[in-house]
Amino acid sequence: MPPRLSASPDPGPSPEAGGPDREAEIQAQLVHDLFERGRLAILVLLVLLGVIRWAVEPAYRIDGRLRALFPILIAVNFVRLAFMFIPHRRRNALASTRAQYAAFAVGVALTSSTLGAMMYLAWPQVEAARIAILVVITSGLVSGAIMSLGFSPFVYMVYMLPPVGAMFVRAVTDSRPPWGANVLATALAIYAVAVLVTSLDQRRTRREAIALSLTLADLVMRDTLTHLHNRRFLQEFMPLETVRLARDTRHLALGVYMLDLDFFKQVNDTHGHAAGDAVLKQTAQTLTAALRHSDNLVRWGGEEFVAVAWVKQREHVRVVAEKLRRAIAQAEFLLPDGTLLRKTVSVGFCALPLVPGPSRQPTWEQALALADAALYRAKAEGRDRWVGVAAAPPEALASPNAFSRLVQNLPEAEGEGRVTLDRAP
Ligand code: GH3
Ligand code: MG
Ligand code: MG
Repeated sequence: MPPRLSASPDPGPSPEAGGPDREAEIQAQLVHDLFERGRLAILVLLVLLGVIRWAVEPAYRIDGRLRALFPILIAVNFVRLAFMFIPHRRRNALASTRAQYAAFAVGVALTSSTLGAMMYLAWPQVEAARIAILVVITSGLVSGAIMSLGFSPFVYMVYMLPPVGAMFVRAVTDSRPPWGANVLATALAIYAVAVLVTSLDQRRTRREAIALSLTLADLVMRDTLTHLHNRRFLQEFMPLETVRLARDTRHLALGVYMLDLDFFKQVNDTHGHAAGDAVLKQTAQTLTAALRHSDNLVRWGGEEFVAVAWVKQREHVRVVAEKLRRAIAQAEFLLPDGTLLRKTVSVGFCALPLVPGPSRQPTWEQALALADAALYRAKAEGRDRWVGVAAAPPEALASPNAFSRLVQNLPEAEGEGRVTLDRAP
């Protein structure tokens, strides 16, 4: 399973842990699956509706009310389908998950109650056996498609019960022959219950599969000390962010930050390795709290962190750098022996897009290399500060040579006007 790219930088639960975060992740994944497969199910349903009309109409003079329901049902499903194809650009994964689920549930309720009404109206006009086949096909196929992902038995019930229920009610209250209709209606109800029970089992299996894949993703993509995402996550995640940057139409900017704690070795040397670990954990928490939920924080290695943050205006890239620096400077780190310690951090960043106009932008690896070079400047200029690569002409990226010259000697490049650096006043 691909990583959840909108995943929060929260330290989050350890890979083994369950907990509300994990539950929310499972739920989000289930809704995502539901949404994706729901589209397919609606397409199938649209085709089926055509088939049903074709099968039923020529043989019988259909009630006008029944006929009117066909276009309504088709229209509802077209609207649902259109909605489901609207790309979701929302940052907050959970908010969009809820919106998706709400939209889906409304659509399900509308579709299935219209379907139920159709079955109810069709009953006196069309022979029971044919209706039964239609019920089994529509309810079974649509619900089967939905439930194969095992989201929730209640979704299934909403889908399944109105059509089958309508048939059942109609059959048992209809005292006309054929009398076999009552037997048929009972069989349909049993069928509905049987599929429901089966789907409960499928649901459990699906949940287990998702939980397992999330655990594996955690093991691969998270750092065990801080529970932050690791380098591997960044490798999966950054190419998508840069694609988004290239496509973006809302003039967003991306800040890529490299952070390194100042004189961290002293913590280990003076207070021991366990104290160093405690500081690293609290650094992760402090930086996470300083960032937005939609930003990403990664433990790059040792006491180095990478943050990636979207901002509305370019000038805000530096604001985030200052926010991160200040968060660490103001934090009090509690060591295992009870000592309170103050630390500082140096930050280097690269603002994207870096090059003006439609020119090729740095790759994320290049952006990170620039942020690292800027971090080196921040260290050299006294630590507890930030330095950012704010702009560069297209020539800076024109050849691998030009780029490595830039990275290797940022002060020289700055002096020669090959790059614009940003610093706190
Ligand atoms: P500065 O960055 O300001 O130049 O000084 P520094 O002391 O932080 O220098 P450096 O980056 O060389 O030191 C990093 C230290 O981080 C070295 C290593 O002992 C320590 N370290 C790396 N990973 C861990 C870890 O997982 N736990 C602990 N306790 N220490 C770690
Ligand atoms: Mg370091
Ligand atoms: Mg350091």
